[in-house]
Amino acid sequence: MAAKTALNKVPGQSNMPFSWTVNPTRGCTHSCKYCFARKTHSYLDMGTGEDFDTQIVVKTNVAEVLRAELSKPSWKREHVALGTNTDPYQRVEGRYQLMPGIIRALADSGTPFSVLTKGPLLKRDLPLLVEASAQVDVSVAVS
Ligand code: SF4
Repeated sequence: MAAKTALNKVPGQSNMPFSWTVNPTRGCTHSCKYCFARKTHSYLDMGTGEDFDTQIVVKTNVAEVLRAELSKPSWKREHVALGTNTDPYQRVEGRYQLMPGIIRALADSGTPFSVLTKGPLLKRDLPLLVEASAQVDVSVAVS
């Protein structure tokens, strides 16, 4: 699907230690039973069980939209978290390869970011993440 926006503002009442997220996909084939992101699949009129595990929505233009949003004078370069909803290195990333464009857009704009994943595909982008860390603060966590 084509996304209209890429940056998501975390609600003010949230306890999350970051204010912005980018979610290139919805649904997650890692299928963790405890996943708190499951309920968000119902916003797409899909189920929070098997649908969440198998019906993956991919924002195919997310990197382009993100780059445009990050170039706005109003963007304050606050920390952006990747991997909250949902895992950006789940299997489908191998096909669509959205993360390299996202990483470059964040680094080029001077925006610090973090990645949380349990996807081994992360290895593919390690050189790019190291490169980005010369431009901005980057943290990676593997669960
Ligand atoms: S990897 Fe993360 S996003 Fe994916 S199902 Fe597990 S907890 Fe949810």
